[in-house]
Amino acid sequence: MPAPIGNLFEQSPVYRMACDQLRAVAARMPEFDDGIMERLMVPKRSLVVSMPVRMRDDRTRVFIGYRVQHSLTSGASKGGLRYAPSVDIGEVAALAMWMSWKCGIMNLPFSGAKGGIAVDPAELTVQEKERLTRRFTDEVLPIIGPRTDIMAPDMGTDEQTMAWIYDTYSMKVGYACPEIVTGKPVELGGCAGRREATGRGVVYCIAEALKELRLPMEGATAVVQGFGNVGSVTCDELHRRGAKVLAVSDRYGAVFNANGLDLPALNRYAFDNPENPRRSIQGFPGGEPMNPADLLTTACDVLVPAAMERQITAENASKIRCRVLAEGANGPTTPEADKILAESDIFVIPDVLCNAGGVTVSYFEWVQDLQQFMWDENKVNEELRKQMLKAFARVRAKALERKLPMRTAALSLGVEKVANEKAKRGLYP
Ligand code: NAD
Repeated sequence: MPAPIGNLFEQSPVYRMACDQLRAVAARMPEFDDGIMERLMVPKRSLVVSMPVRMRDDRTRVFIGYRVQHSLTSGASKGGLRYAPSVDIGEVAALAMWMSWKCGIMNLPFSGAKGGIAVDPAELTVQEKERLTRRFTDEVLPIIGPRTDIMAPDMGTDEQTMAWIYDTYSMKVGYACPEIVTGKPVELGGCAGRREATGRGVVYCIAEALKELRLPMEGATAVVQGFGNVGSVTCDELHRRGAKVLAVSDRYGAVFNANGLDLPALNRYAFDNPENPRRSIQGFPGGEPMNPADLLTTACDVLVPAAMERQITAENASKIRCRVLAEGANGPTTPEADKILAESDIFVIPDVLCNAGGVTVSYFEWVQDLQQFMWDENKVNEELRKQMLKAFARVRAKALERKLPMRTAALSLGVEKVANEKAKRGLYP
């Protein structure tokens, strides 16, 4: 299947990786014509905006931001907003495409989208971050809306970022519109348990995989790359279930303890410590520092990349020593690495399934906001668990039935749903 002509996203290795995955899955679906697959290869709508922001020294700096809607076929588009220096339009387009498959796998009435601003949030003051976020919201206003495109937190953004977007959008339309974003503070119509949802979903999947491998969770060893929202909650949930987290890393360093890290102490050190404004695990006294480059190849039962894309590559894939690879991050494994892993006995839980707890509880939040009727956290967690287990079972059944790797099985389910909807809706005009 050729890439559509004039494809401006193709310069990004992350986008090319998402397209390679789509091509591989499309090759197994002769029932869909090439036209549909070609439509799925490029995002439906992309907006590039520049935001002039007044900085703390009164100078003006200009930042570039993106909002990409991969598809509008399955309902309002939905996806996170990322603040990171590496953000470019191709990366955002790839992440938007993965969101489409993820929503398809989870049977959510959403299409995929993603947004991002090329900025290192650690270099901004809170006021600069607020001005940048509000101006970005204003710039993308023509293509967002509670029935059009709904944002959520991702790398470098959080509940506060969503609160600013909610406020800015509400000021523009003239009424409080909490359903414009998900992952906002609970006091503003956020959903109890949304912040923890992605990490919880990751651990529900890990528990299923361990069950199949007949390995007990109690005493299982884990290594986690990234100690932000997804990584830290995954660690907490593993720890709560009796697993031992041997090592974690973040962008500043990595820490190791052969007896298992004391997670409550690590959380206090990273997140509740005025002497640690970077909120980093680096320097944690309850473990030894380790070279972050060695983290992914540390022997363990469960390895969770929960930081960023393209971390497991052709160079390190053959050195990975785990039983379960649970992809908390989006796109952490390259297609070349995938081929190497397929030859091993590692149980891969692919990103589009493994981290889908976040968008699932985002869906719950959106539904609650539309109905103005909020659920308690027990109900949220129980529904999340139910949906994750159902999706895991669907993907696993497809993988076993067709003898497919888990990633191919998961992507097939997601792509098939969207392609089917496109075929049934037909072509306008
Ligand atoms: P976050 O900003 O809260 O945390 C990111 C973490 O990764 C931080 O600890 C950061 O220091 C670390 N990191 C950055 N670069 C690193 C590197 N080179 N090596 C090691 N660690 C590094 O972001 P998050 O929301 O936890 O998102 C992490 C990943 O999970 C992303 O791929 C994101 O797209 C994906 N994801 C997030 C959600 C969500 O609900 N937040 C949902 C689905 C998927």
